[in-house]
Amino acid sequence: MPGLHQHVGKIFADLAVPDPLADGGDLECRSPVDGAVLGTLTSHTPDQVSAVIARSQAAFEQWRTVPAPVRGDLIREFGQLLREHKSALGTLVSIEAGKIESEGLGEVQEMIDICDLAVGLSRQLHGLTIATERPGHRMMEQWHPLGVVGVISAFNFPVAVWSWNTALALVCGDAVVWKPSEKTLLTAIACTGLLRRAARAAGAPEDIATLVLGGRQAGEVLVDDERVALVSATGSTRMGKQVAPRVAARLGRTLLELGGNNAAVVAPSADLDLTVRAVVFSAVGTAGQRCTTLRRLIVHRSVKDDLVRRLTAAYRSLPIGSPLESSTLVGPLIDDAAGQAFTAAVGTARAEGGTVVTGGTVHEQISQELGGCYVRPAIVDMPAQSTVVRTETFGPILYLLTYDDFDEAIRLHNEVTQGLSSSIFTLDLREAERFVSATGSDCGIANVNIGPSGAEIGGAFGGEKETGGGRESGSDAWRNYMRRATNTVNYSPDLPLAQGVTFS
Ligand code: NAD
Repeated sequence: MPGLHQHVGKIFADLAVPDPLADGGDLECRSPVDGAVLGTLTSHTPDQVSAVIARSQAAFEQWRTVPAPVRGDLIREFGQLLREHKSALGTLVSIEAGKIESEGLGEVQEMIDICDLAVGLSRQLHGLTIATERPGHRMMEQWHPLGVVGVISAFNFPVAVWSWNTALALVCGDAVVWKPSEKTLLTAIACTGLLRRAARAAGAPEDIATLVLGGRQAGEVLVDDERVALVSATGSTRMGKQVAPRVAARLGRTLLELGGNNAAVVAPSADLDLTVRAVVFSAVGTAGQRCTTLRRLIVHRSVKDDLVRRLTAAYRSLPIGSPLESSTLVGPLIDDAAGQAFTAAVGTARAEGGTVVTGGTVHEQISQELGGCYVRPAIVDMPAQSTVVRTETFGPILYLLTYDDFDEAIRLHNEVTQGLSSSIFTLDLREAERFVSATGSDCGIANVNIGPSGAEIGGAFGGEKETGGGRESGSDAWRNYMRRATNTVNYSPDLPLAQGVTFS
């Protein structure tokens, strides 16, 4: 559709980044809004990826000598550019990932927020001073820059996840090579262009922020290259299971942010008005394509009928359509394959005894009118936590499970292989505290009276079990991007040995 292509051209002009789209490349850039090809780009060959890593390594060797607070100045400048171009970048996210306007802007805001956090951190990358057992000695730890960080990212947060990694890695003194999803290359080119512009303005080596384009093969070069000290990979559990052993084989570091299968427990005392609003946003926002999307609702039998009635009414009134229209709340799935996976999962749920309460079909009329793949979000009542319920299908399907006893709710909640995010809706203090305790939710994120999606950057983000165990963003996640050195300094003329050992 020429309209979207021209829109993209205008956005790149606004960002003062050259429009990269050309004809004849092997990577098709498609917009899920209309399913049409905007243009093409060309994959990097393995040799080209290797050359980018070499440039990144050289930039790292310079950058690590710059004091951390001065490195923070670069991130402040980048955050400023993001503020200036928030609207254009938000629209680009909507065009390329299909997010509605507010979520596209929210993704850019997330980049701005992590920049602010990183600027503050640039003066707080501290170690400890530790008491030693030896007189006239001092023991301390320091955190040093780590090296080249390879960032592999997924389509559904096309820029935020990269910025979480990159803002922290850069203030920590590292250089970043980014392999974005092959489905969202334009936002990656735009953001890298802005960051390199900020680097030029700050007098920093531009190659602290580099980009490699391609699919799995380009990612594999990063995974296998010993110069890449840390591989931070976000995507499916399938991808993580391929990446982790390869990086481990060379004893490199990984930071894994993989699939989720997030649940919420709705207890008898829940405030149902609030619960309905939270559930609809968490289950349907981003058309069910968030790693933290609510996929399983574990409802107490006493409130189930009332809740299902209210949820059904809310689902039936959801505006589905182009994410570029400000009234839309449910945009497209990323591509037709995602639509097929959605339909297949609803079919499997039926075969496993489920009853479709609402939705669950492709919206043929809107899909034909606009050209993308638009679906009606589904609620499916399940008799048990069967195979399909335990599987992450990346679309808006909410499975209902029923419980009678709180221990049963916790058991159902934890009985999946993923462990990313979770919630409980209750006004009962004992239930709330139990849910966030060691015997409650086994996820990396456990919330009370808010949904599982929509995290703030101040907390550490990530999950357990097959979600990969990584933590990014806030709290002490910066430590992932540094190496720790323990230093013992002897300022005495004697040489006492630890543990009372004598050697003379
Ligand atoms: P995906 O696994 O298909 O692809 C993710 C990235 O990995 C892409 O850049 C892809 O090219 C690359 N890749 C795939 N196989 C690879 C390999 N063997 N070696 C190196 N690179 C490889 O995921 P997707 O469809 O883009 O995204 C959806 C998935 O991502 C969902 O499972 C979702 O839950 C997950 N996700 C998780 C988080 C989180 O923080 N936990 C955040 C966003 C998305």
